[in-house]
Amino acid sequence: MSSSSSSLTLVAMLVCGVGIGYFLHPAPLNPQYRFTSSSSSSSSSSTTSNLAPIQEEFNPLSYSSIQSSNDDQRRLRQVDQLSEQDLTQERFVEAQKLLSSQSVPTSTTPQVMKTPHLPDAKRMKILVTGGAGFVGSHLVDKLMMEGHEVIVVDNFFTGQKKNVEHWLHHPKFSLIVHDVTEQMMLEVDQIYHLACPASPPHYQYNPVKTIKTSTMGTINMLGLAKRVKARMLLTSTSEVYGDPKVHPQPESYWGNVNTIGPRSCYDEGKRVAETMMYSYRNQNNVEVRVARIFNTFGPRMHPNDGRVVSNFIIQALQDKPLTIYGDGTQTRSFQYVSDLVDGLHALMNHDYDQPVNLGNPDEYSVGNFAKYIKELTKSKSEILFLEASEDDPTQRKPDITVAKKEIGWYPKVKVEDGLKSAIDYFQRVLDESGEIIPTGPGAAKPKHGSEIK
Ligand code: NAD
Ligand code: UDP
Repeated sequence: MSSSSSSLTLVAMLVCGVGIGYFLHPAPLNPQYRFTSSSSSSSSSSTTSNLAPIQEEFNPLSYSSIQSSNDDQRRLRQVDQLSEQDLTQERFVEAQKLLSSQSVPTSTTPQVMKTPHLPDAKRMKILVTGGAGFVGSHLVDKLMMEGHEVIVVDNFFTGQKKNVEHWLHHPKFSLIVHDVTEQMMLEVDQIYHLACPASPPHYQYNPVKTIKTSTMGTINMLGLAKRVKARMLLTSTSEVYGDPKVHPQPESYWGNVNTIGPRSCYDEGKRVAETMMYSYRNQNNVEVRVARIFNTFGPRMHPNDGRVVSNFIIQALQDKPLTIYGDGTQTRSFQYVSDLVDGLHALMNHDYDQPVNLGNPDEYSVGNFAKYIKELTKSKSEILFLEASEDDPTQRKPDITVAKKEIGWYPKVKVEDGLKSAIDYFQRVLDESGEIIPTGPGAAKPKHGSEIK
């Protein structure tokens, strides 16, 4: 449907909406009539309707004392005029309410964010798949604030509309609810391909779908990139290194991945997605960029995504036990989301086309990280040791030499500062929703036969 015909449809819907609302709710829209209570109608002689002329409220009989003088009559007329104005105002407000309920009501409606104006020659059309997710929505903020046109494609598996709701009314923003495993036709200059669940419980929830998303989804986006000659960036992962035997991990390390374990749907899916990227580059001259992202955290993480940062903070803020899987000696390195977004942007816009690690080399054992979160949140939580997750990598830390040299990027936000802002965010989420029970270790186990209710 063309944009002009869809605008016309919208206008028609709004007009119909007002019309329907008028007939369903004649009281606020019609100055002459309003519903009276059944008790007042029972005193009236009419038995057929509880609709009464509005003047009844100003029945001279109930104002006998002011009927006597002309002055008083003038005052009465003024009161009538005033109430007429009030009613007009009331009608207007009601009509606005109705209109907004027929369009897209959000907490920010109808505010439109202000963004810079870029000349045509510099403004790009940029597609962000998975743009309603945690990382994607922060990337969208950056691209919009630069003045580009941004199209988000998301199936809302783990993403949330509220992550991008502040852009919904912006003329340079579009949201398409679509699954990347299905083909799509668009005209764009750049593609950031993020669509894929990232937390272990999410990607293990439906492993077959995760594989389809990484393989068919990436092929579809590469086909699009090839057709429209767009540059495409894939958000790959440190998981391509599996349980690494080399530490820290440089991009030249080929990894140690179990092809049939519970994490393989994600790990191998991303590995084959990387292979597809370079096959399209070599065979079809598609311009490709590959980011290998290490553990990232920050506001807009889904409170139930089950990752270690969100779980520990949510548990600590509620003084519930912090759940460590295994003995807590396994390590991870955590980066704040704004650093990652800067890295993705730098990689997309530099000439370097080999895989690049994006992560903060600040490394913690999971056990020490739990203590650190307790300290930062001043929590009384205990620490609880649970069974280790299968194939959980024992160590992880990025070597970011390539990122520094080739795209001039390194993380700028200290983990402590990032954690404070994440703690503020999760506190707000908790204030809004009350208790949150974080996703536990068994949540992602695929269910078989009799287990499925
Ligand atoms: P997320 O789950 O918050 O976001 C993923 C988004 O993709 C969601 O909005 C989801 O609805 C969407 N999506 C999933 N499957 C889709 C499909 N088939 N079609 C359309 N949309 C689909 O995860 P995130 O943390 O924002 O991760 C974004 C990307 O970065 C992912 O590709 C992930 O593999 C990669 N990554 C993230 C991290 C991290 O620590 N956050 C680490 C390594 C790699
Ligand atoms: N982890 C944990 N408790 C939790 C969640 C995760 O001990 O409640 C551990 C998990 O076993 C892994 C590390 O924390 O060793 C990081 O897990 P996460 O799910 O955040 O990401 P991963 O790096 O494994 O993809």
